[in-house]
Amino acid sequence: TKPIDQILDETLVITNIQFKHWEWIASYYLCTLGEVIRAALPSAFLLESETIISLTKKEVDDESIFSDDEFLVFEALQHQSSLHINDIRSILDKKNVVKVIQSLLEKGVIEVQEEVYDQYTPKMKRYVKLVSSYAEEEKLKELLDSLTRAPKQREVLMNLFVLSSKEKNVGTIQLQKKSNTTASVIKTLLDKGILEEYYIQKDRVVYEGADGEAIKELSKAQEKAYSEIKTAFNEQDVVLLHGVTSSGKTEIYVRLIDEILKTGKQVLYMLPEIALTTQLITRLQYYFADKVAVYHSKYSVNERVEVWNNVLQNKPKAQIVIGARSSLFLPFSDLGLILVDEEHETSFKQYNPSPRYHGRDAALVLANLHNAKTLLGSATPSLESYYNTENGKYGLVTLKERYGKVLMPEIELVDIKEAHRKKKMKGHFSERLLEEINEAIKNKEQVILFQNRRGFSPVVECTTCGVSPQCPNCDVSLTYHQYRKEMRCHYCGYHTQMLAACFACGSETLDTKGFGTEQIETELKTLFPNHVVARMDQDTTKGKHAYGKLIERLENEEISILVGTQMLAKGLDFRKVSLVGVMNADNLLNFPDFRAHERSFQLLQQVSGRAGRTKKRGKVLIQTYNPYHQILQQVSTNDFEGMYKQQLEDRYQFKYPPFYRTIRITCRDRNYDKMRKAATWFASALQLKLGENVLGPEAPPVGRVRNLFITNILIKIPKKQSISGTKTVIEKVSRSFAVIKDFSSVKITIDIDNY
Ligand code: ADP
Ligand code: ZN
Ligand code: ZN
Repeated sequence: TKPIDQILDETLVITNIQFKHWEWIASYYLCTLGEVIRAALPSAFLLESETIISLTKKEVDDESIFSDDEFLVFEALQHQSSLHINDIRSILDKKNVVKVIQSLLEKGVIEVQEEVYDQYTPKMKRYVKLVSSYAEEEKLKELLDSLTRAPKQREVLMNLFVLSSKEKNVGTIQLQKKSNTTASVIKTLLDKGILEEYYIQKDRVVYEGADGEAIKELSKAQEKAYSEIKTAFNEQDVVLLHGVTSSGKTEIYVRLIDEILKTGKQVLYMLPEIALTTQLITRLQYYFADKVAVYHSKYSVNERVEVWNNVLQNKPKAQIVIGARSSLFLPFSDLGLILVDEEHETSFKQYNPSPRYHGRDAALVLANLHNAKTLLGSATPSLESYYNTENGKYGLVTLKERYGKVLMPEIELVDIKEAHRKKKMKGHFSERLLEEINEAIKNKEQVILFQNRRGFSPVVECTTCGVSPQCPNCDVSLTYHQYRKEMRCHYCGYHTQMLAACFACGSETLDTKGFGTEQIETELKTLFPNHVVARMDQDTTKGKHAYGKLIERLENEEISILVGTQMLAKGLDFRKVSLVGVMNADNLLNFPDFRAHERSFQLLQQVSGRAGRTKKRGKVLIQTYNPYHQILQQVSTNDFEGMYKQQLEDRYQFKYPPFYRTIRITCRDRNYDKMRKAATWFASALQLKLGENVLGPEAPPVGRVRNLFITNILIKIPKKQSISGTKTVIEKVSRSFAVIKDFSSVKITIDIDNY
């Protein structure tokens, strides 16, 4: 036993249930409990502005464990004993700072100096009041008389009376301002024992919203769905609400939330990406006012700890938490319901850093630990969840009509191969699409255009020699961004000026191929010079408020045509959008991934769902080279069931989820040969025990990222079989691998239920 040095927390900040949950995550996703805790605790989410780091060791055996950025920081630390986060920002030119620090921490090369770890300090506000002995009229009169020769002090006192007749608490700053004086006058009154001061803890997080607007009355269809959910919850802990876009799922959630709140229990509302949900947050605050707390990775540590403490104490202020997957780690004390909205979204899965957990799946486990219910909601459920309703694990409630009996949009496939042949294309727009855009803007309606690539053009190519500029760190072509006249790598962020001439043959015949959102925006501006065109993608929504501003401009109808990436698909509700255009559906479908078809269906349905949310039937035009593609046919006829059956057959035949569990093991190294050797060793070792369940090693489509060569090993195990045996094998092989000297620099990551 060691003597106690210091007591850090006077009360428990972690609950038993949290601990059990974290242990489950660590054991299911094959990572250490420490990795889970690091992801869970607010202090480790982000390294705050006061972070100072230093080296744990001066030398490393193999410098190839570092990325270029990491190496820069490592090198700087060899010359200077410690670095402030601002120094690192300048070394790295502001990019990746937190990632680099986190990765160096993971590698055990650096440590964060403890005393500067941002510690939680409650925000206090100072108030003053008259000492109670002066409360009697007699005493007060005496006091004021005694102050005739101190007019300033007298004035402060008079102002205090005026202010406290209106407000319960009078702040020092407020009093000082009102009296137009300095702090010293108030201090004198305090010193004389005339005034006394007191403190009240203030919220850092702004909890806002109108006070409890009445909840909307549900439509007949909604009411039916709502009571079906309730009935299903009698039998089952998990229910999937499959409601088409704009069917009014949110209002049903609101009813359920309201009911849980009345029992005093807490609600967790999980969303794939919290940054893209300003509309929803406003809507919930409208009903539940300051009971809604948002848990956001953009918040400071202090703000997050405040939410943490409110949740821990089940304060009314955080009875409903809206957050992305990390909100699962909060210390709920009495959770009644978890809502997983847009449950099909793949961004619920965390890839880096470990724990590589799936937000939805981990939510189900958390709900179970609390004896709480879980409602999964989506217009396009994942195959996995839908399958679970078929086999009886989850309840299913379906809502097939839109709110207000608004019709589902009419979806038309436009054959652009044909359009090209008949010379009916203007840039990337078919005549059909232009016709419809013209019609919509003539009627003062808004248009949304979807293109899943950002930038101007994904490939720059020399028409003389056929060479295209590649990223020096990754095996991909650079994307041309016209606005900055730059070529950028979308994998590592590398960027360079656009070349004037081909770097290989010197001729000035550089051309661009393919197209992104930026090019569509440019074309639109020429085609519709009298209308406001805006763009929504990673490049235009970087600032903290950029996304919200764009939404506001759309709501105010300042924008006629909006072009954007997948960001557009996420839950936006605009009344005036009558037309949605998809510029090119083919690159979605051709993505090399077993979920590509399912995802294309989901994305196209979600994007289409933005059209015609009011009385008038909306229209969707999907441009494609392949209008007879099964998925596009299913999208255009709203045939979820058909898509589901077809995909499920494929999954069965090719041994994928929901019939099989997949585990991906990735090997990375700067040296290609070493990486290949290591991967082959690893795969063979696994094969010895697991046989033909082990596939690969195989290089992914982009075989090198940030100067690390990559290869994957895939393990498939029938769902019926327990996964623990396989995990034991992986752990054993990993341990033997770790002691092989030749492979010491090779980084291995294990991803259970990979996406
Ligand atoms: P979903 O989430 O299923 O796409 P929403 O919940 O966004 O659908 O509902 C679509 C639109 O219909 C929203 O503008 C919403 O305000 C409106 N709405 C839904 N239910 C009701 C209701 N019961 N009363 C009034 N308006 C409703
Ligand atoms: Zn050339
Ligand atoms: Zn790159």
